[in-house]
Amino acid sequence: MSNTTSVGNCNIEFILSTKNKKIVIFNEYKYVFNQESNKKKYWRCEDNDYCAAYLHTTCEDIYVKHNNAQHNHLPDPDEILIIRLISKIRSRVVNEHLSASFIYEFEIARAKLTKSQLSIVPSFRTIKSALYKARSKTIPIVPKTFEFNVPTLYQLNTNSEQFLLADYHDKKFDRVLMYSSNRQLDILFNSSIIFCDGTFSTAPPQFQQIYTLHGIFEEECM
Ligand SMILES: [Zn+2]
Repeated sequence: MSNTTSVGNCNIEFILSTKNKKIVIFNEYKYVFNQESNKKKYWRCEDNDYCAAYLHTTCEDIYVKHNNAQHNHLPDPDEILIIRLISKIRSRVVNEHLSASFIYEFEIARAKLTKSQLSIVPSFRTIKSALYKARSKTIPIVPKTFEFNVPTLYQLNTNSEQFLLADYHDKKFDRVLMYSSNRQLDILFNSSIIFCDGTFSTAPPQFQQIYTLHGIFEEECM
């Protein structure tokens, strides 16, 4: 996600690209990392090989100075908008549990992009592997056996309510995990008809079976 600060009349914003590379937006121009030395980072304007604009920051990304060189090209507001949009999508993919494709489609639709912006926005297919890679760095390694502790985050639903109801070891079943929100329990307990379904084919490799209970709510089976 981005980090914006104001320096005088200037805005400096640090953004992580989809590929996890830090870039700087300074007064709506894009700068990329050039080199680091003597406790400073040097960032150069990326738009043009012959543009002399550059800026310095500390190694902790605190603005130091700009060389005040005039850019020899105009800023590209569409490109900057897309960079911020993709950064937002990346941040949501890393911090939320919704599918990356859903977040991508939702944010692209919400941005109401113009035709010219749509022509330069990367497709989901183009960036999906980078998004999945960014997400994979934030999630635990998938356990190889049923002997593992469920991290607190995975005991809650997306509303941060308790979702893991029971987690116990059993001589017959080895390990049983039961999941439901209170709302789902309400629906189940008030349903006049209950359906039960067990499946083996989609169970995680550490487990043998997924067993689900379904109740009727407003004429729909849930
Ligand atoms: Zn420039």
